[in-house]
Amino acid sequence: MSVRTTCPYCGVGCGVIARPNAVTGEVAISGDTEHPANRGRLCSKGSALGQTLGSDGRLLYPHVNGQRVPMDNALDHVASEFKRIIAEHGAGAVALYVSGQLLTEDYYVANKLMKGFIGTANIDTNSRLCMSSAVSGHRRAFGEDVVPVCYEDLELAELIVLVGSNTAWCHPVLFQRIVQAKQQNPALKIVVIDPRRTMTCDIADLHLPVRAGTDVWLFNGLLAYLDKHGHADQAFVANHTRGVDEALQVAHESAPAVAEICGIDTAALDEFYRLFASSRRAITAFSMGVNQSSAGTDKVNSIINCHLLTGRIGQPGMGPFSVTGQPNAMGGREVGGLASTLAAHMELDDPAHREIVQTFWRSPLIADRAGLKAVELFDAIHDGKVKAVWIMATNPVVSLPDADKVKAALRRCELVVVSDCFEKTDTNEFAHVLLPAAGWGEKDGTVTNSERCISRQRQFLPLSGETRPDWWLICEVAKRLGHGAAFSFNSPQQIFVEHAALSAAENRGTRAFDIGGLANLTASGYETLEPVQWPVRESAGTARLLESGRFYHRDRKARFVITAPRLPAHAPNPEFPLVLNTGRVRDHWHTMTRTGRAPQLNTHTPEPYIDMHAQDALLWAVTEGQLARVETRWGSMVARLKISGEVPRGTVFAPIHWNGMFASDARVGTLVNPVVDPVSGEPEFKHTPARVMPFVVKWHGFVLSRTPVDITDSTWWSVARGAQFTRYEIAGRDRTPPSSVWARALLGANHADADWIEYADPATGVFRSVLLVDEKIVGCVFISTRLDLPSRTWLSGLFAKKRIHDADRTSLLNGGPAAAGDDPGPMVCSCFGVGRNTICKAIAADRLKTAQDVGRKLRAGTNCGSCLPEIRSLLANA
Ligand code: SF4
Repeated sequence: MSVRTTCPYCGVGCGVIARPNAVTGEVAISGDTEHPANRGRLCSKGSALGQTLGSDGRLLYPHVNGQRVPMDNALDHVASEFKRIIAEHGAGAVALYVSGQLLTEDYYVANKLMKGFIGTANIDTNSRLCMSSAVSGHRRAFGEDVVPVCYEDLELAELIVLVGSNTAWCHPVLFQRIVQAKQQNPALKIVVIDPRRTMTCDIADLHLPVRAGTDVWLFNGLLAYLDKHGHADQAFVANHTRGVDEALQVAHESAPAVAEICGIDTAALDEFYRLFASSRRAITAFSMGVNQSSAGTDKVNSIINCHLLTGRIGQPGMGPFSVTGQPNAMGGREVGGLASTLAAHMELDDPAHREIVQTFWRSPLIADRAGLKAVELFDAIHDGKVKAVWIMATNPVVSLPDADKVKAALRRCELVVVSDCFEKTDTNEFAHVLLPAAGWGEKDGTVTNSERCISRQRQFLPLSGETRPDWWLICEVAKRLGHGAAFSFNSPQQIFVEHAALSAAENRGTRAFDIGGLANLTASGYETLEPVQWPVRESAGTARLLESGRFYHRDRKARFVITAPRLPAHAPNPEFPLVLNTGRVRDHWHTMTRTGRAPQLNTHTPEPYIDMHAQDALLWAVTEGQLARVETRWGSMVARLKISGEVPRGTVFAPIHWNGMFASDARVGTLVNPVVDPVSGEPEFKHTPARVMPFVVKWHGFVLSRTPVDITDSTWWSVARGAQFTRYEIAGRDRTPPSSVWARALLGANHADADWIEYADPATGVFRSVLLVDEKIVGCVFISTRLDLPSRTWLSGLFAKKRIHDADRTSLLNGGPAAAGDDPGPMVCSCFGVGRNTICKAIAADRLKTAQDVGRKLRAGTNCGSCLPEIRSLLANA
């Protein structure tokens, strides 16, 4: 059996073919060649989806106050507590905090329950953290949250400007499409605007390493340049827009000092402005580097202003393009999953819209004002104003800014309900009620990707334990709250057609989001629904929006928005002179609850790290490979220092993924300042004043073990699951280095056939111990007081061997092969397990010149292509 479904990670929304094997229980994953988003390609995360399935670590049964209970009891408890709190404190005392991981059908019923039946807009989503500034910017400029561009436009463009987007790592399949477009059309120019020189710069004709937070100056300067040099499309501006003069005035005022404020070379700035001015088919694609800012909405509008002035919108190969982070951030926007929106792209503060929705839902009431946005919501929980929260498919204790305050808030909250797929998460620790949610492969519904393409996510596995789809859990609670008639859905198809019908209600072309053409889908039509881009007014979709130049403000004109530039809320200062920037790594997703389970995805970046400029590292007395502490006013973390050469002076970069399950002290959210954009409420994840210092320890070490071991008595630790082993990085400051007694207790001293190979040098603090049983490696411990531990890659590879041969046995305590160069080194291609040393050796030995040469020789880079930028960088260095 093969099932066509959709990847549950990023907003590219790739089609996936899943082939479950009934005998082995494994699921083979491949790209769907017929899906328009990826045409068969998958990135490293998508390719490894099969490794994230299985019941290990799943939350399978409902729990109330730590006790397993029947599902009915858990749902009764949630409903009765919600009822009690609403009766005592009003509807505003309860809230839902949901997720861009939910399917559209889950989102729809959650929003319907809160806004139409409980009567509060206190439902917000973790999408607030990644793209709400784009939503606000679209609504201000276009009158509705519409994305005018489609992926095909990237292949038709003459210029693609990537702003605040490490596309190579965060939207890899889209990046591969751009790479291919450039190969087919070498005239296509790519400009990357990012403080970091990321892997995305691999294909850049121009990289502008702007100072963090200065994007509005850059685009205001561009707007002024376009105006001054006669590139305005006067007819378009006159016929389709309003407010140009006011926007231009502010742009001209902020233009003179752009290069200096942005910290970039004047010639490079001129080059960018000339390129944009001379390229009619220009796309400005932007992502978290733009959105996650206290000026995020203005950044979005400063970009849109440039497209409006030149009329570069709504036509093939051009337009502003918000690339969403999550698989269903767009679907959440469509159903009104944000506290600031109503369903079907209608507005909470528009009485006519409220009436349409209330009439359609036949609801007793309707929320009439915006609810609490994510950061406000957890503040209100902290302050005791919100007394019950139901958290679905997200991990706010890790992902929200000032995350320790979120912990404190949940600790104080009267009722915390969490529905999740996994048993142990940082957030679950605070739950009074745990509801087991169906995971990817078990649930059925739809998602919408960055180009408005609605795709089916289909079930191909039976439900595990007592897990249930989120829409079912919500409907069951709604019924218990007395709203049975409005929530009597028996399938996601029934929910979807209601959602589609609502989008068409009283629409008559006034709202872009209209999928009325799908409102009559039967169960079999829903089952076989092909990917389709909204609007779907009849039966066909729509690739490109705004082609007619008609926008969605009442007068059908777009708005230029005045974007007066301002610096981030908190400036670096003598106490915290650096700027902390946060982001994603190639092979992990969000808080690692899924990707952390996939051995293949743990090889590329196996432990938390921070990245700094070499000169800053020198200044702050930290050396590469050493543990370093990053501190801000809000919190601190400890991670390994890396000097990649990507990070500019004055900043420190940290990935967002590690949670309390995978590292002792690396929850980046605890450090991030909780300042938000005043319009969108999106937090400033890219700019928190920080300082760095060495994290002094007495010893470093690592453990590789076939069975899980407890290393949490170490001062610092991180853990990564491998194929036949678990890898632990450890360090200690308050006791003498671990020795034989400790290692034997840890790995299992009572193995009957234990064969221990050990080396200890108390003078230097070096200790090495390897446990073999039946000639197989069972575990090893390597400890040193210096940073001279061997590469883990070769030792890890031994766990796949049925027998350790004599040649390897003699090398065990070295931690590396006898023959120099046989250690693959740090992982580059996780699909085929090809390390950096292997690639460099082949480049030198075989005089390889291109990534294709490397692929032919080693297979590296020939599956998902996510590692191609790194391979090209190794070739360039060679
Ligand atoms: Fe999934 Fe990768 Fe495609 Fe994103 S680019 S949807 S993570 S396969």
